[in-house]
Amino acid sequence: MILMNDFKADPEDLKLAQIRAAERVIRSGWYILGNELKAFEERWAARCGTPHCLGVGNGMDAIEIGLRASGIGPGDEVITTPMTAFASVLAVIRAGATPILADIDPATGLLDPESVRRCLTPRTKGVLLVHLYGQVRNMDAWKTLCAEAGIGLFEDCAQAHLAAWKGRPAGSHGAWGAYSFYPTKNLGTLGDGGALVTTDPELAAIASRLRNYGQSKRYYHSDLGLNSRLDEIHAAILSARLEWLDGYTARRRQVADAYRLGIRNAKVTLLAAPVEPGNHVYHLFPVLCDRREDLMAHLKARDVESLIHYPVPVHMQEPCRAIGRAPGGLPRAERHAQVCLSLPCHPQLSDEDVARVVEAVNAF
Ligand SMILES: *Cc1c(COP(=O)(O)O)cnc(C)c1O
Repeated sequence: MILMNDFKADPEDLKLAQIRAAERVIRSGWYILGNELKAFEERWAARCGTPHCLGVGNGMDAIEIGLRASGIGPGDEVITTPMTAFASVLAVIRAGATPILADIDPATGLLDPESVRRCLTPRTKGVLLVHLYGQVRNMDAWKTLCAEAGIGLFEDCAQAHLAAWKGRPAGSHGAWGAYSFYPTKNLGTLGDGGALVTTDPELAAIASRLRNYGQSKRYYHSDLGLNSRLDEIHAAILSARLEWLDGYTARRRQVADAYRLGIRNAKVTLLAAPVEPGNHVYHLFPVLCDRREDLMAHLKARDVESLIHYPVPVHMQEPCRAIGRAPGGLPRAERHAQVCLSLPCHPQLSDEDVARVVEAVNAF
């Protein structure tokens, strides 16, 4: 089976580097908020082009902490997309704010600026942009829209490690960027992990308190925070895996390029290509197909796994029926959810695997 993710196929060198990292932490006797975290935060901040990085428990907490550090809470509206991981919207709710869902651009699956404009109200405090599938797009337009509306620009970068717009990495364009290091992400640890990156030193200081029970100095609490810290063992593992990330990202782009060149089937539509190669890190490679379930079964019969990202847009999830949305509804997100299907796209795929996926799609 050609799998959606294949961690067992990681190179032996990388496995050994992670074992050494874990051993270093075990022998150090220091497990939370120590030197491994500091070292990883410095490395990741450098890669994100931001002076500050705070390691936190997971990607969802990174979004909540970012919003709260931006002073967003009850009564405030944050516009975001229904075509995302549930965590994006749940984090807005956890921060006490009100999510408002705008529709997507069907060519990319990303939030549509025109729909976002129609969602603006006097209570709007920001846009949570999700770099879905690994693609950063139209950042100049987003910056202009948010500046004109006088609202914050926040980036959910959970799928977009090392993606950049005009050379500027994801997470460095607005008030902050939230990363997830869940195992399947482009940079992932052996459990849960996340980070908040920002250029704003004050925001970084607030976030640093919020992740640690709102503690300003030992046993003094200035805020009602969370327990959400990136453990030393995860920081050490992430520092090791970071050494492989450039190579892994290049391989994801090769796989995607091969799919773009090779897939020729009138029943299967590809999403729009990035403006520049550097915009996209191909966390996922979805195609669109009206007979999606048939295509999925056809691929499975040819030993190719596929997954749907995402089958249910957030506003159609049971506890989210009452969430506010763009005037006229979210028809494009609903259609996307019915026709999208992600093909295997990860660095451990061989050229032969890629050719087999292309052949299987073309034979549908
Ligand atoms: C994975 C993901 C998250 C949540 O990250 P966790 O680390 O699982 O909390 C948020 N947003 C997007 C777009 C994601 O893909």
